[in-house]
Amino acid sequence: MNVLIIGGGIIALTAARELKKRGAERVTIVEKGVLGREASFAAAGMLAPNAESNGTGEFHQLCSASNRLFPALAGELLAETGVNIELDLTGTLFVGFTDEDEAEIEERYAIQKKAGVNVVPLSGKDVLALEKNVSGDVRKGLLYPDDGQVENRKLVAALRRYAELNDVVIRENTFIDRLVIEDGVVIGAASGNDVFCADRVIMATGAWAELIPNNGQWGAFGPRPIRGQMIGFAAGDFSFSHVIYSPRGYIVPRADRHVIAGATMEDVGFRAEVTPNGIAAVRKAAEEIAPVLADATMNESWAGLRPFVSDGLPVIGEFPGHKNAFIATGHFRNGILLSPITGRILADLATTGKTEIDITAFSPERFSAAAAGQS
Ligand SMILES: Cc1cc2nc3c(=O)[nH]c(=O)nc-3n(C[C@H](O)[C@H](O)[C@H](O)COP(=O)(O)OP(=O)(O)OC[C@H]3O[C@@H](n4cnc5c(N)ncnc54)[C@H](O)[C@@H]3O)c2cc1C
Repeated sequence: MNVLIIGGGIIALTAARELKKRGAERVTIVEKGVLGREASFAAAGMLAPNAESNGTGEFHQLCSASNRLFPALAGELLAETGVNIELDLTGTLFVGFTDEDEAEIEERYAIQKKAGVNVVPLSGKDVLALEKNVSGDVRKGLLYPDDGQVENRKLVAALRRYAELNDVVIRENTFIDRLVIEDGVVIGAASGNDVFCADRVIMATGAWAELIPNNGQWGAFGPRPIRGQMIGFAAGDFSFSHVIYSPRGYIVPRADRHVIAGATMEDVGFRAEVTPNGIAAVRKAAEEIAPVLADATMNESWAGLRPFVSDGLPVIGEFPGHKNAFIATGHFRNGILLSPITGRILADLATTGKTEIDITAFSPERFSAAAAGQS
């Protein structure tokens, strides 16, 4: 089987690995820039099915299932490529400093406890016992022992290495400008005069929607970019052992002891750039969590574009009305977390036409059904 993957982010890379493991003879990734340098590079790498959602419903189940794939993935990638993706499942803290934060934490705890989420309520004192550099103003917290982080840039590097070692064809700096469709069947895609023929085509183009057939017709379907700005602090005379969230931001301590902090949420189109206001807002939220960061050296800032679809859920499945074409987009704030399971689903669909993972809630069909209902 010959599979063409358009886009070269984390979703494309995990799909390529799964396809190779299932014996696909030829897998080609075509990327308009450099593999993994867009949202997948910009991300914080948090694996936060519980800190990121209220712990109920299909989305939470998909995120949790994907989170459980990481320990095996980390071990396999180390053996296959020699790259350590720095998986850290120490747990994530969610902390609050105001009356509103306390109310949010209590509500979260009530909902999540009822839903069976592994969550531990903490007093301010408990938080400080776990993390001495959190602000003394902390009033309450939650510990999510199953959440954690991965070094997403190393994950991209490991998956790229896997692809190179397993004869995945990689074409960078190549913009796919159209799908090649015959009688409703997608038979490839093209970049100018360069045509890539394939038995199956996977669109994994993140926030970029140009290639989605009939994008206008599907109305709400097209993803759009939501910018996130991030900053990094050089390692200093401080340390943290958990990812720490507040309602206004988060800090992520990396294995080499530098700390990254994020992130803005801005609907400003395809402008993956940082702004003074964005950086100031991220820095303020980070310093609220850990005032010690006010004296830290900020040595990095960057921005990326999260792929967001109108209902906030990913879109994964066969493209309606276009046989042989599959799409995976809309991973929004959780594409690193969701990458292992999305790669599996795409490989299932491309090789067998079906998957045992329940993706009904994420199917592109939900938009055609909604559109039909409106007309
Ligand atoms: C600031 C920030 C923080 C984040 N933090 C986290 C986090 O902590 N945890 C988490 O799980 N997720 C996080 N995310 C979300 C996560 O990064 C994304 O959901 C994920 O990277 C999406 O992966 P992707 O492969 O779909 O998109 P991308 O990584 O954007 O890849 C899509 C690729 O397709 C290419 N492309 C597009 N159109 C074409 C075309 N026509 N031809 C060829 N190539 C094309 C693009 O160049 C791009 O490289 C964060 C995102 C941001 C921006």
